Amino acid sequence: MGDHPTIDRVEATAFVIPTDGPEADGTLSWDKTTLIVAEVTAGGRRGIGYTYSDASVVKLITEKLAEAIRGRDALATPALHQAMLHAIRNLGRPGLVATGISAVDAALWDLKGKLLGQPVAALLGAARERVPVYGSGGFTSYSVQRLKEQLGGWASEGMRWVKMKVGSDPAADPSRAVAAREAIGDTLLFVDANGAYDRKLALAMAERFAELGVIYFEEPVSSDDLPGLHLLRDRAPAGMRIAAGEYGYDPFYFRRMLEAEAVDVLQADATRCLGITGFMKADALCDARSLPLSAHCAPSLHRHPALAATRLWNIEWFHDHVRIEQMLFDGAPRVEKGSIAVDWSRPGLGIELKRADAERFKV
Ligand SMILES: [Mg+2]
Repeated sequence: MGDHPTIDRVEATAFVIPTDGPEADGTLSWDKTTLIVAEVTAGGRRGIGYTYSDASVVKLITEKLAEAIRGRDALATPALHQAMLHAIRNLGRPGLVATGISAVDAALWDLKGKLLGQPVAALLGAARERVPVYGSGGFTSYSVQRLKEQLGGWASEGMRWVKMKVGSDPAADPSRAVAAREAIGDTLLFVDANGAYDRKLALAMAERFAELGVIYFEEPVSSDDLPGLHLLRDRAPAGMRIAAGEYGYDPFYFRRMLEAEAVDVLQADATRCLGITGFMKADALCDARSLPLSAHCAPSLHRHPALAATRLWNIEWFHDHVRIEQMLFDGAPRVEKGSIAVDWSRPGLGIELKRADAERFKV
């Protein structure tokens, strides 16, 4: 269109970063995290985006997705998004493919911001100046001591909410939640079972947690069990919000979850749900149902669409991703009084890969 620059190069690199200790939630344990960085160039500028996924996505980005967008108008974001979706029709959209598209979509937004000299939040249009975050970690692999130190640390930094994992050992969950409460003062406690409980155990746990002052219960049952989530949402004590959505890979998933009246808070992850473009569609779906939206992990990326999303409640300040992003991205956000903001002097997403520091994690 007109004399807009066109996409000339699409690259991707995988980095595998060990955690700072064993991490576990109710249904998974891990000791490393894979970061995929996508880069697109046009008009002499380079855009960067990322996802937390699998190294196999690199090939998808550098072949299939690159072929779909190379030579096209770099500013025509919806057209580039549609071109990628069209190209992967026979591969299947959810899962790895959606994470690859998400990384490229974010890189295209970053590139557009750099070409136009504006932060992505300004391109989308800001709805607020700062975005509150909630500290998230409290892994079930942690000792009670470590759990208290981590959550207590976030509380003392002024966060309004903190979240711990539950579900690995249901018998231990109430006492760990009591220990966490003791460490966080007036800060509010969230729990996340990652789908570990069955329906009736989850309902009983919701009552126990409510007595302990917990106000938010994430994936009490599997997020695949929409009637189960609906049961929890309707039967959990007043004031206990039920949340899910982190495994949403497209707007159709979010629509189904909302139509099932499965959640009080919808979660969406721009590194999975078809990028910043997909995240803003999740916000529109929430707006149409008057429900809050919570951004799942990857805070360096989410701060831009989170500033723009009408229904945004908060961003998950996930220990593992915060550590990686502060280590590898120049310009990664810092928390002030429980919230983060955008640096308006930096165009695009405002982050750059620290290539020398990242090199040792490259696979
Ligand atoms: Mg979760």
